[in-house]
Amino acid sequence: MSSTAPYAIADILCRRFRIRLDEVLVDAMHGDHSHFDLVTVVVTRADGLQGTGYTYCGGRGAGAIEAVIRDDFAPLLTGRDARDVEALNAAMYWRLHYVGRGGIVSFAISALDIALWDLRGKASGQPLWRMAGGRGRSAQIYRGAIDLHYAPERMAQAARGYVAEGYEAVKIKIGRADMREDLARARATRDIIGADRAFMIDANYGYDVARAIEAARAFAEFGYVFFEEPTLPDHYDDYTRIFAATGAPLAQGENLHTQEEFDEALARSSLAFLQPDASNCGGVTGWLAAARAAEAKGVIACSHGMQELHVSLVAGAAPTGWVEAHSFPIDRYATTPLLREHGRAIAPDVPGTGVDFDWAKLSDAHDPPR
Ligand SMILES: [Mg+2]
Repeated sequence: MSSTAPYAIADILCRRFRIRLDEVLVDAMHGDHSHFDLVTVVVTRADGLQGTGYTYCGGRGAGAIEAVIRDDFAPLLTGRDARDVEALNAAMYWRLHYVGRGGIVSFAISALDIALWDLRGKASGQPLWRMAGGRGRSAQIYRGAIDLHYAPERMAQAARGYVAEGYEAVKIKIGRADMREDLARARATRDIIGADRAFMIDANYGYDVARAIEAARAFAEFGYVFFEEPTLPDHYDDYTRIFAATGAPLAQGENLHTQEEFDEALARSSLAFLQPDASNCGGVTGWLAAARAAEAKGVIACSHGMQELHVSLVAGAAPTGWVEAHSFPIDRYATTPLLREHGRAIAPDVPGTGVDFDWAKLSDAHDPPR
């Protein structure tokens, strides 16, 4: 293929923005989050058409993601046909498979894959929800709080805010050393959101199997839709032990980065919900593959984080799934923030992913490490 073909990738611009959060957020195993990092790519074809992609993390590891894109993937992709999205995704995967399968490499692949899907949609006039399957344009959404540090009174205050913002579902963090504190936090939340709104719990693998079984039973009185990451995500069989003992609807996926990991989880974890994150599992291509594998096993595909993009994937490919509205406010820096109506998230109906950024706003917010 000639590098002068109109569809050839001519340029890849990678940038990194470190954004201070409104408050320090805490979960069970990752400690304090003071920032989130957004790594963006703009892929330009020879004919001038541009696609935007991105990934994010909790303020750690973004420099390595940027280096992988700049040093390994930009040279690999430059000159290649931008329309070969799945082939380019596989080429990136195998390029660094030996040194970095999963993890940081998957984040880097994701940013570029999302940019290539943006280009695919802009070139064909198709919005992402249609490219993802076109089964619907809206999705259930819940507010996923990072609130393990909140006492019950602060939980209630936050829940009042989510209800005022129109959320019909709320997920809280659990995993304190004293489970009675978590139960009080759950009760405070349930009291505010009422019986008709949905409720979820997320332990960020802060438990062992015995404690997870105890928690699955103890929180049942609050009627949770799912219990997310009770134990270590790669201890797949532990999930089946918890399910066998309690029948609890279990969820995980944000820490699975390769199709092999999703296949193992679907085969061995007795999950009710799978939560792939397109920012860390190979982009749109990786998310769709995980969602298809889930559906084939009768598991409902959902999403983790980056709600402004996942709304299109869940709506288009998994219309009974849940979109998480994450505490990292990426969409505050997008040119078209996420639309919600009557408690549901509405996918953008413009060609491409429908996600682009206010670069000046991002530059202003950038808080470089000292
Ligand atoms: Mg989670």
